[in-house]
Amino acid sequence: VVGADGVESRIGRWAGYNTFTKMIDMESCAQFTMADLDIDQDTCEFIFSTKKVPGGYIWIFPKGNRTANVGIGISGDYSGKRSALSFLKDFVEERFPGKPVLSTLCGGVPCAMTRKKISGDGFMLVGDAAHQVNPISGGGIVSGMYAGMLAGKTAGTAARERDFSAKRLSEYDREWHSTIGKDHERFYRIKEAIFDFTDEQFNKLAHEVLKIPMQDRSLMRIFKAALKAKPKLIFDVIKLFT
Ligand SMILES: Cc1cc2nc3c(=O)[nH]c(=O)nc-3n(C[C@H](O)[C@H](O)[C@H](O)COP(=O)(O)OP(=O)(O)OC[C@H]3O[C@@H](n4cnc5c(N)ncnc54)[C@H](O)[C@@H]3O)c2cc1C
Repeated sequence: VVGADGVESRIGRWAGYNTFTKMIDMESCAQFTMADLDIDQDTCEFIFSTKKVPGGYIWIFPKGNRTANVGIGISGDYSGKRSALSFLKDFVEERFPGKPVLSTLCGGVPCAMTRKKISGDGFMLVGDAAHQVNPISGGGIVSGMYAGMLAGKTAGTAARERDFSAKRLSEYDREWHSTIGKDHERFYRIKEAIFDFTDEQFNKLAHEVLKIPMQDRSLMRIFKAALKAKPKLIFDVIKLFT
């Protein structure tokens, strides 16, 4: 069985795994697909503001012909007090007043560390069910597809060998945790480190990152820039790269 049943996976729970997500890691998201917008169709916008979008960000992703996905994700720590949808409505009213909303999408995104064990006797968990979302961006489509490919390869080999034991399927865990899973662990720690950034610190970081040529914007260089915005981050940097 491949459990790809999304956030809070029931299949994972049936298999005896805890698939719950801590509130602080559960991004509450809302998105409008909007039309007739005056935006640059070649630019994705990310807006950080502790007032407009606490513990998350607003995105504007152009989709061509003056349309775009305009969305927001806020940490579950804040969404109990005020919903993501209400924050999004305020933003849209300010930025795109009166523009048509073609569709609305809401949901939770688990911006957590990937579960340590993502397979067992006769089953594997994939995508949101396994918490394979990039913990910083909240993007789970590409990583979910990559994990699906890894799970498919392991399932194919297991079928040829007629061996669906936990030991055989643990190859999938190893492949994930040694590739994107490893990056996600780092991203999660970065997320924790920048979670309480003030707007001034975010602005300072953005200005520092802009000074780095595009081709040199590695994780290390960006973190060095972040250090200028918040020198105390040095302790988190040491944990990340040791
Ligand atoms: C508002 C919003 C915007 C987002 N924007 C982006 C973005 O721009 N880029 C990005 O990368 N990610 C984005 N994400 C995150 C992304 O949508 C998810 O990470 C991704 O869809 C996870 O894929 P999945 O296949 O694991 O789970 P899902 O897409 O949730 O699919 C799970 C499927 O399983 C089905 N299912 C559940 N239970 C059962 C059952 N018992 N039997 C049969 N079927 C079942 C469900 O109906 C569903 O179709 C966004 C999320 C939200 C909420």
